[in-house]
Amino acid sequence: MRRSAADWLQALQDLNADRPVRIMNVCGGHERSISAAGLRTLIPDHVELVPGPGCPVCICPEEDVYEAIQLALHEDITLVAFGDMLRVPVNAPKREPRSLEQAKAAGADIRPIASPIDAVKLARAEPQRTVVFFAAGFETTTAPVAAMLAEGAPDNLLVLLSGRLTWPAVAMLLDSGTPGFDALVAPGHVATVMGPEEWGFVVDKHSIPAAIAGFTPESLLAAMYSVLRQLESGRTFLDNCYTQVVKAGGNTAARAHLDRVMDVVDANWRGIGIIPKSGFALRESYAAHDVRQQLPSYADESRKRVGEMPPGCDCAQVVLGKIYPNQCRLYGAACTPRKPIGPCMVSDEGACRIWWSAGYRDNEWQEKRTSEAGG
Ligand code: SF4
Repeated sequence: MRRSAADWLQALQDLNADRPVRIMNVCGGHERSISAAGLRTLIPDHVELVPGPGCPVCICPEEDVYEAIQLALHEDITLVAFGDMLRVPVNAPKREPRSLEQAKAAGADIRPIASPIDAVKLARAEPQRTVVFFAAGFETTTAPVAAMLAEGAPDNLLVLLSGRLTWPAVAMLLDSGTPGFDALVAPGHVATVMGPEEWGFVVDKHSIPAAIAGFTPESLLAAMYSVLRQLESGRTFLDNCYTQVVKAGGNTAARAHLDRVMDVVDANWRGIGIIPKSGFALRESYAAHDVRQQLPSYADESRKRVGEMPPGCDCAQVVLGKIYPNQCRLYGAACTPRKPIGPCMVSDEGACRIWWSAGYRDNEWQEKRTSEAGG
């Protein structure tokens, strides 16, 4: 018989608690489920849940968003992107469009899409027009892009690819020696595509308990119980708490598409820097669909020096689990979902937006400052 969320919560309370434990949840979808269900207030006090690097919009390099904006403004193209990307701000001078949304308002032909199928449909409907698909995302988003190209995309459809793999960011944190977490809840949808084995290094190399979770409170609580039980027993292993869909080897067809269409390369993560073997790039055999091979580059080295994040935005720290969203000085003050300063407040998978939407309105940074000033 399956356990209910209440059963899992009771099981968590019954575990021995002899020290504080920090569990990182990698995935933005997990963070959304945790916050929406209020799990932080229900789990034992000694357990902290730390949102991790699972928001593709948040880590999409500033230069890629800038490139998309400039292509849409200067080339005779239609640019399509997932809706979240349209509001992501870059560090452009005030007189220039700072997001795809602002570029659209300035006259560029930019349209939101929900899937690669929409991009193909649009390119087929308007064969005389060049359609550029700004494809930013993790494995689960990038695999359908690979399938779209492998199965034969229209000639007038180009891809500006900003695909990333999730596990190398966690590997980087663990290799740093100060990961900031004691256990890991790994992303179920990524494991569904790439296979659970990808997360074996967490246990094998670092002896950190890990469990793959789905998106229901029950699955997340089961994964939390698993890693806490592992810590208690001193026997670590990679648990699969999402057996309904996560199978050994992952989705072989999706992985075959990725292997055929893309190389794995070192890649930049916004505000974090280059992470080895963490990005996808189109193979030379797909150069005909590669924006970077077919259209002019708008890379601007001098502009890049102003920094990847907007001034005062701590998104990179939030993404790496080093601070909570409400420890950024701008959280809920200058930065809200209506007027986002950084990408973490834009995306549905960004921790800042998720926390704000879930009703976390306190700003710890401001409160600390007030109390230090004797206010
Ligand atoms: S609250 Fe806004 S400015 Fe602060 S880290 Fe989040 S997105 Fe960046």
